Amino acid sequence: MSRLDSFIRRMQAQRACLDMAAEALRDVPGPVLELGLGNGRTYDHLRELMPNRRIFVFERKVAAHPDCIMADDDLFEGDFRDTLPNAMTRMGERAALVHADYGAGTPDYVTGMSTFLAETLVNLVAPGAWIVSDYPIDGKGWIAVDLPDGIRPNRYFIRQA
Ligand code: SAM
Repeated sequence: MSRLDSFIRRMQAQRACLDMAAEALRDVPGPVLELGLGNGRTYDHLRELMPNRRIFVFERKVAAHPDCIMADDDLFEGDFRDTLPNAMTRMGERAALVHADYGAGTPDYVTGMSTFLAETLVNLVAPGAWIVSDYPIDGKGWIAVDLPDGIRPNRYFIRQA
């Protein structure tokens, strides 16, 4: 498969998982956490899908499309390892959905970050929350959720707290 086809399938998987999460979590209260703003494409999609939910964005250094910049109060700028541990103070309530798209680093970085996120996010998500991510994040007690129809295993990952 060409790199272009692979990229397109990853984006399709990402969108299908986020669409499914918005529907499934309709009755789970709480904000959304977007880990890794990048260009802001998935942030933009999330705010379209869930216009009534607050979305907190965690990003090392914001460099998104100008239309995809959030209010200062909704941004945690800095490394996840510095911003996430105390995030509840500003969040005020546990999250219904976490979307984590951070996997542009080395395999060691990704593995270490997945472990850190698994340990940290358990304290930030509501019972029944979904964690949708580009690499598996296995928090204690979380279960794997089947991917949407037509999405191949391991293209994206969904866990439920
Ligand atoms: N989903 C985004 C979109 O649709 O545009 C793309 C996200 S991009 C692949 C990954 C982002 O994660 C980058 O902007 C990078 O700076 C951020 N990131 C990766 N590791 C991070 C960390 N440890 N702390 C904060 N931000 C991080």
